[in-house]
Amino acid sequence: MTYDDCVELLQRRGVTLTSISEIVYQLQHPYNAVLKQEDCLDSVKAILRKREVQYTLLTGITLDILAEQQLLPEPLQSIMEADESLYGVDETLALGITNMFGTIALTSFGYLDKAKVGIIQQLNNKGDHVHVFLDDLVAGLAAAASARIAHHDVNARQYDVSENIDEV
Ligand code: MG
Repeated sequence: MTYDDCVELLQRRGVTLTSISEIVYQLQHPYNAVLKQEDCLDSVKAILRKREVQYTLLTGITLDILAEQQLLPEPLQSIMEADESLYGVDETLALGITNMFGTIALTSFGYLDKAKVGIIQQLNNKGDHVHVFLDDLVAGLAAAASARIAHHDVNARQYDVSENIDEV
């Protein structure tokens, strides 16, 4: 699994890095007037370079694909098809991405889970596709990329940048 595999996997499921970076821009622009779209794209790319993130995406998207192909054992197949709201494992997996980026990522993830901004909304209106995991994974990626920008922004005084966040 490499960065390129990850980008390709997302693209095959209808998610471009640009569509994720547009969510990041919406999240961060209110706090950072000089922020550019390309900064957001760079941040998404940096998140995707983490091996742990790549494995998380691979796991969730693989389950979506297997459910779409009706290949999962019961009762998981039926649960995934129904996208049952009490399932919750999709959110839990995506939190593995946000956990690396502290509370800013966590709050943004909660917001995106409710507001379903941009491509997340499109994944939700899915038609024949199963996107049980993908919508949450995209929200997790956007939240993490957004938090990464906030942590790097020395002017962002409204945030507690003293948290011990690994440089990515
Ligand atoms: Mg979901």
